[in-house]
Amino acid sequence: MAARGRLTATILLLLLGAAACAPRQAVRAPVPAPPAVQPGMHVWPGRDIIQSACLNDLAAAGAQFELIAQAEPGKDGCTLENGVKLTRLSATALDRPVELSCPTALRLAEFERAELQPTALRLFGRPLAQLNHAGGFTCRRMVGGGGRLSEHAHGRAIDIWGFVLADGTRLSVKEQFRAGGPEGGFLRSVSRAACGYFAVVLGPNANRDHQDHFHWDTGRWKQCSG
Ligand SMILES: [Zn+2]
Repeated sequence: MAARGRLTATILLLLLGAAACAPRQAVRAPVPAPPAVQPGMHVWPGRDIIQSACLNDLAAAGAQFELIAQAEPGKDGCTLENGVKLTRLSATALDRPVELSCPTALRLAEFERAELQPTALRLFGRPLAQLNHAGGFTCRRMVGGGGRLSEHAHGRAIDIWGFVLADGTRLSVKEQFRAGGPEGGFLRSVSRAACGYFAVVLGPNANRDHQDHFHWDTGRWKQCSG
């Protein structure tokens, strides 16, 4: 009986050993689920991207824009993160598309709603139809900045040289900033108000380089020469 019991135990041990040595079934790594689309998020046709809060806010502000694909920073250090090609603010067209970082585009959209349009209505009795600009994202260095990159090199700045009202009246920083009447009043008023929205505000009051346009940026430096 004792020998039979030992034999049974030996067979059991052999069976267990065989089971332990049996090839294991390959375990598949779980495939991560795609991010769930939440209400309020925008998924743009042709792009597998869930947009950031800034892009949602920009769309909610009524702006029209396209996304710009993220590019690797070049050797020159110029980068455009979270970039958009903006064609229209809520009620004001751009004379041509401008490339800006989303936060800067959003700040411009907020400024348009809160200051540009109300000031045009107050002084002219008609809305603003168009904003004329001379560039947003461009790879360049600061004038007199000791080689430092301009905020334009990161899409955080826009240069504006004029406006067009809904009736076709044209306003030019170069021609009318110091003029009397509502035209000069409008340009000086929005330039001052821009200091509440942008970090650096330059224009004809700043220096000779800005006699013909406003420079509004959302960069790290602070200067209000509106
Ligand atoms: Zn500028």
